[in-house]
Amino acid sequence: MFSFNNPVGACPTCEGYGKVIGIDEDLVIPNKSLSVYQDAVACWKGEKMSEWKDELIYSAEKFNFPIHKPFYELTDAQRFLVWTGNKYFKGLNQFFKYLEENSYKIQYRVMLSRYRGKTTCPECKGSRLKKEPGMLK
Ligand SMILES: [Zn+2]
Repeated sequence: MFSFNNPVGACPTCEGYGKVIGIDEDLVIPNKSLSVYQDAVACWKGEKMSEWKDELIYSAEKFNFPIHKPFYELTDAQRFLVWTGNKYFKGLNQFFKYLEENSYKIQYRVMLSRYRGKTTCPECKGSRLKKEPGMLK
């Protein structure tokens, strides 16, 4: 139950656990010394799925994305972009949404399960606490 008297409640997304089952970045990008061009993104390998990677590779110069830089050297904003995408390419969030929408196909279900794990809760960032207005720095 939500209590108006208690300013600090448990995060509703993870129910105070700090972790949720979701797409695990360490499984998606297992080797961060590789660049995007060198297939740092494990799920964008292979004949079919590399179309997602190619979209980023071919449009990268339009928004100055360093496709040859090791993944760990990318800025937070650049790493974030690989997940969110922009108007030129579709990011990993959309990729996994696509897999989920097509998970009636066995190969997509298998792929999804391969990249799922316990990840830091996106809502409370692992703090386990409910986000309060004014707490953001
Ligand atoms: Zn949480």
